[in-house]
Amino acid sequence: MSNSEKAKGEVRYRTVEDIPGVGPATAEKLKKMGYSTVESLATASLKELTQFLGEKTAYAIITEARKHVISVPFMRADEYMRIRRSVEKLTTGSVKLDELLGGGVETQAITEVYGEFGSGKSQICHQLCVTVQLPREKGGLDGGALYIDTENSFRPERIVQIAKRYSLDPEKVLKRIVYAEALTADHQMYLLDNADTQLKEHNVRLIIIDSLVAHFRSEYVGREMLAERQQKLEKHLHRLVRLARAFNAVAFITNQVMAKPNSFFSDIEPAGGHILAHTSHTRVFLRKSPQPGIKIARLVVSPTLPEGKECLFKITENGIEDVETEKK
Ligand code: ADP
Ligand code: MG
Repeated sequence: MSNSEKAKGEVRYRTVEDIPGVGPATAEKLKKMGYSTVESLATASLKELTQFLGEKTAYAIITEARKHVISVPFMRADEYMRIRRSVEKLTTGSVKLDELLGGGVETQAITEVYGEFGSGKSQICHQLCVTVQLPREKGGLDGGALYIDTENSFRPERIVQIAKRYSLDPEKVLKRIVYAEALTADHQMYLLDNADTQLKEHNVRLIIIDSLVAHFRSEYVGREMLAERQQKLEKHLHRLVRLARAFNAVAFITNQVMAKPNSFFSDIEPAGGHILAHTSHTRVFLRKSPQPGIKIARLVVSPTLPEGKECLFKITENGIEDVETEKK
């Protein structure tokens, strides 16, 4: 049993079929909906399940799943504090960038990096796929990664290079990364909706979507499609948050930038609109610096840290690294 499981209390149901009232037919229906594990059922919404199941059955299933995975819905703040202690932090490979994020990228929440093309978003994703596999004393989570790729950005060769920096066996590192290319927005949603078996099987502690909104932006064009696009994005993000909580995983998403509409200044802002702004917990803006290979990260939104701080990091063959002080 993992530490996160211990923190949440005893998990008695190992499979969905173990939940009282779930027969083979119901289990099959749940699987089709993307709920193959007790963990994902515990964070399911009644509305989703009642599309396929009776309300009473759905309610009973969710309640049972929650009993054994998550604690009671009402709790005292000290109890919540105890649950918060199960939140872990994942190193980015750069001490300065970790500091900016309050010790690394947090589990059970979404972290978004946005910036223009070439600002280092996908490189950080690759880096995290390796560091997540490190033991805890080295800043990792001793887990695997899921990489949902929408822009054909994933390069296993980069993983091999970064793995060598940590003296890890590249073959083993590649084996712990589950990769999926999302072909359309709907396909991207389908992949995440059906990810929970993979997450459990590979002990995935890092879920990457690189990039989150690219397909949505290119497929839902114009004002009349905006509402539908935002609805889908919201659903997608909620699913992501719930998986991150259920599996105590880091959710890491990348985002494009666009010119700010109705702005007097030629400012840029992350794409995705209000839905993303309200759901995304930590937002980091990346930009290039005049020095080659060196990028600037700014903490734009954080629930617990002062905003507006910046740091430098560099991208090398080794992945994400600190800039040597003499170069600053
Ligand atoms: P994006 O924000 O568009 O996802 P990337 O994460 O792909 O951008 O970052 C591209 C940057 O990473 C470029 O500046 C590129 O030079 C740098 N980069 C990629 N691979 C390497 C490498 N092996 N060594 C050094 N820099 C690299
Ligand atoms: Mg990229």
